[in-house]
Amino acid sequence: MTDSIELGPGKNLRTGSLVWADTAHPPLGTHALKQSLSVDVAIVGASISGAFMAHALAARFEKVVVLDRREPGLGSTHASTAMLQFEIDTPLTDLADQIGGANAAQAWRRSWRATQALSCMVRDEGIRCDLSDRYKLYLCGNEMESRGMEQEARARRRAGIECEYLSGRELKARFGIDRTGAILSPGAEVADPVALSRGLLRRARRDRARIFAPVDVRGVLATKHGVVLDACRHFVLAKKAIFYTGYETLELLPSKGMKITSSWAAATAPRAAYPEWLDRTLVWEAAKPYLYLRTTTDGRLLVGGEDAELDSLSYRANTLALKGRRLAQKTARLLPGVKPKWNHVWAGAFGESSDGLPVIDAIPGMPGCFSVMGFGGNGTVYAMLAAQLIPGLVAGRSPADSRLFRFR
Ligand SMILES: Cc1cc2nc3c(=O)[nH]c(=O)nc-3n(C[C@H](O)[C@H](O)[C@H](O)COP(=O)(O)OP(=O)(O)OC[C@H]3O[C@@H](n4cnc5c(N)ncnc54)[C@H](O)[C@@H]3O)c2cc1C
Repeated sequence: MTDSIELGPGKNLRTGSLVWADTAHPPLGTHALKQSLSVDVAIVGASISGAFMAHALAARFEKVVVLDRREPGLGSTHASTAMLQFEIDTPLTDLADQIGGANAAQAWRRSWRATQALSCMVRDEGIRCDLSDRYKLYLCGNEMESRGMEQEARARRRAGIECEYLSGRELKARFGIDRTGAILSPGAEVADPVALSRGLLRRARRDRARIFAPVDVRGVLATKHGVVLDACRHFVLAKKAIFYTGYETLELLPSKGMKITSSWAAATAPRAAYPEWLDRTLVWEAAKPYLYLRTTTDGRLLVGGEDAELDSLSYRANTLALKGRRLAQKTARLLPGVKPKWNHVWAGAFGESSDGLPVIDAIPGMPGCFSVMGFGGNGTVYAMLAAQLIPGLVAGRSPADSRLFRFR
């Protein structure tokens, strides 16, 4: 590694008609960067991950700045369906094969605790983002049938995570769904991701953090005097810099097993027709390609999935109609009697790591620099997890469990 890195140019992170564009999100009020600055902590990225970090650090350091080339909350976060779930994309039994049983159980427990901490914090702070708690129904599919699902439920319970295995018959009786089995767990949430990001940033601003946008950070140089961020016409000299640049990733970082792909989603108009239990339950299939479902507080049905291993704007844009049709067909097959009509179909860049875990770590060879890359279907929960770990890392400690989320 060198002591400097280039930051890639902005790319198109999302396309199509986004459901959150229907909601009026009051603008945050940002500053223009009119001169060079010297600060304690600079956070690059003002979407969901940067917002959690700004909230966590603003009260701990005197001078915290957040820099973004876009308006806050409008990175790939704007495309998120904002299911806040503790379930890591890699099932506990599979993760145990990859990193060992004890580590896998601990990673799952951290994700569980981060989800609970997130929901308490957002409620305590009174952030208005349509936060609403949910059960999670994880359905058998082509990636895991009933025997594997039962083992998964046992492994989760051994790790101390509350859940219930439902046989195919119980699933049909309680939810009308025809699959060979499922796991039902409490402890998930849904939200409006733009409102959540901006709500967190407002609280950070209350604690004197300053938010600068649009500011394009082009390069980073780590020196013995601090970290220099090249923000085009001005510089920001920071004692510590934390990069939350999402899928506009930093060049030259170790990224074994990580890839940027594409994911699609669709939403109905408010007051759609769907089974009433969906307002209390998220649904996710153990399948490839998978389907997932949630509802909003104004009665929209949101579904997503159909991931493709390709990070291409033209492919995302050209397949919107096709993916929308497929999502409607799969939803209708899963929920008899539901025939969704989409008001919105959209797609966005999506990040995956081979083990489903995020990277929350100091950047090798770049003193004072840290990077967080939250991957998969629980990027939002990983943002909370990072907000729990980064303060310790920044202070030069090795917080418990941080070894699980290193660069790899
Ligand atoms: C269709 C879809 C559905 C999804 N559903 C869910 C879900 O249900 N739950 C969930 O948790 N996750 C979901 N995700 C994933 C989720 O969107 C991401 O994990 C999350 O939004 C990442 O947030 P972030 O803040 O790290 O990145 P981003 O939101 O992309 O923010 C990064 C920010 O950094 C800024 N930036 C980048 N480079 C620079 C630079 N050089 N200078 C200045 N600023 C810079 C960008 O402008 C941007 O605002 C979904 C994604 C998609 C596409």
